[in-house]
Amino acid sequence: MDGAALAQRLREETAREVEELGGLGLATVLVGDDPASHIYIRLKHEAAESVGIAPVDRRLDADVSEAELLQLVENLNGDDEIDGVLVQLPLPDHIDEARVIRAVDPVKDVDGLHPFNAGQLYLGRQTLVSATPLGVMALLTEYRVPVAGARAVVVGRSPIVGKPMALLLLHANATVTVCHSRTEELARHTLDADIVVVAVGIPGLVSADMVKAGAAVVDVGMNRTDAGLVGDVDAGAADVAALLTPVPGGVGPMTIALLLANTVRAARYRRGLLAFPRP
Ligand code: NDP
Repeated sequence: MDGAALAQRLREETAREVEELGGLGLATVLVGDDPASHIYIRLKHEAAESVGIAPVDRRLDADVSEAELLQLVENLNGDDEIDGVLVQLPLPDHIDEARVIRAVDPVKDVDGLHPFNAGQLYLGRQTLVSATPLGVMALLTEYRVPVAGARAVVVGRSPIVGKPMALLLLHANATVTVCHSRTEELARHTLDADIVVVAVGIPGLVSADMVKAGAAVVDVGMNRTDAGLVGDVDAGAADVAALLTPVPGGVGPMTIALLLANTVRAARYRRGLLAFPRP
């Protein structure tokens, strides 16, 4: 499954929507100097600019107080030029991550992490949803992978990937199993699945002998190794699966494309072009 190609098409569509709406802003907040976070922020800014969304770059030192960070989020919430607010995770240990996530105005929460948006997703209602699982669903749709009635296994249960992924698949009528670090005999579950989504962060966790012939396998993992960027699924799985996303060039570009699409959605909500279900 070629995520780079589909992401490019989605970005062109988003660029047209941005032009129609005019003047969108996406604010990112980066705390500290985690090298991976710096790369993600740079990629998000470049992508935003490429579709005409103005990136607003806010950076704070690793030792910033929680109160200062909350004040910055509050200012971004109130800034009319800004449609989306994204706080790059992880945050330093002295900051209560959940509190910061709750501080983002739900209508600007382009990561879909605010408990209100998470609750809307749980209920199967329209809302802002985390970009990565949305990107996975778009790939499955593009490659005409039947989801309704399919057995889907999601490996990983984080609030930003695994859980929203499982819910989107469930709402699309898959029969969903969620696996995690305490799952016994992971292969027993994955071997049974028509769709496998792996979002763990362990290179090669899912090997070819853990995949059912003809399955669709989505590798969300992004692991920096001496051999470069690798996913969580062994490349040999391509010989067994009907469809597999590469790393890089699979889910990564889709995440960025759907983040931009979420910014457009947030702008529509704020401008009253779409009804946002206020708490
Ligand atoms: P987290 O660390 O938050 O979650 C990892 C999950 O994997 C946890 O639920 C954990 O279980 C589970 N897990 C850990 N070990 C095992 C195991 N041996 N077997 C089965 N499950 C296990 O990571 P994220 O969800 O944020 O990210 C996952 C991966 O996806 C990372 O590589 C990340 O870099 C990548 N990523 C890629 C994106 C993209 O755009 N391509 C976007 C976001 C993330 P438990 O809950 O029990 O601890």
